[in-house]
Amino acid sequence: MRLDALLARAAERLARSGSASPRLDAEVLLCHVLGVDRTWLYTWGDRPATTYARARFEALVAARAAGHPVAYLTGMREFWGLALATSRHTLIPRPDTETLVELLLELAPEPSGRLLDLGTGTGAIALAFASERPGWEALGVDRVPEAVALAESNAHRLGIANASFSLSDWFVALADERFTLIAANPPYIDAQDPHLAQGDVRFEPSSALVAADAGLADLRHLVERGMAHLLPGGWLALEHGHEQAAAVRNLLEDSGYTAVASRRDLGGHERVTYG
Ligand code: GLN
Repeated sequence: MRLDALLARAAERLARSGSASPRLDAEVLLCHVLGVDRTWLYTWGDRPATTYARARFEALVAARAAGHPVAYLTGMREFWGLALATSRHTLIPRPDTETLVELLLELAPEPSGRLLDLGTGTGAIALAFASERPGWEALGVDRVPEAVALAESNAHRLGIANASFSLSDWFVALADERFTLIAANPPYIDAQDPHLAQGDVRFEPSSALVAADAGLADLRHLVERGMAHLLPGGWLALEHGHEQAAAVRNLLEDSGYTAVASRRDLGGHERVTYG
């Protein structure tokens, strides 16, 4: 069977299974099996699939049809143009979080400074920021040892030398260190949210997704403890659910932050709040 026919058949199967992007999913999985990029696939689609490639691809398509996230099947996800390794121990980086990176870059016009990324996971925020601000030092912390190891290996493979990673449950291991910018994409989904029963989140660690107190518990903790770790004139910037912006603005104002405002993501939802 030709590669393009194999692809068309897989896309149909994934569409029936309910994937929101069946053609793209199929292309990404086939590229992964063949070790090629999508341009190659468009050029050489008339080539026959080898027995190995077909078997391997069909196994991945079956797993995708059962709901497994593409980023876990390939072990990779692109974020801010960086190819990040992903694993089941971390949240899969999402385009929404690029809104937070854009904001951080705007808040960091200076040639040097220190950024802290709390609950760094794959290292996405710290690495994207560090890749754009070579004069800054970015530190990513996570309480999950596998996440710290993954983020370190991402930094190493991408050659981003001004990002480092260490183990810390939020601020616990940071003693009295202070930063110019503090950022986080913490868990913020309520345990009862029906969204948790659909799509990729079913396979992601709930410790990266679910927070107590209608999803606000970790956001509140970061706001309350963050101030003591900010340098004068520094900023705290937090990603949150699109219905939590007003609550997070209130938390920040109640804790004495000023110039509090929110930012919308690509979907037009208030997704990031800072002060
Ligand atoms: N934005 C993600 C989702 O709704 C959740 C990310 C998070 O909880 N930090 O799928």
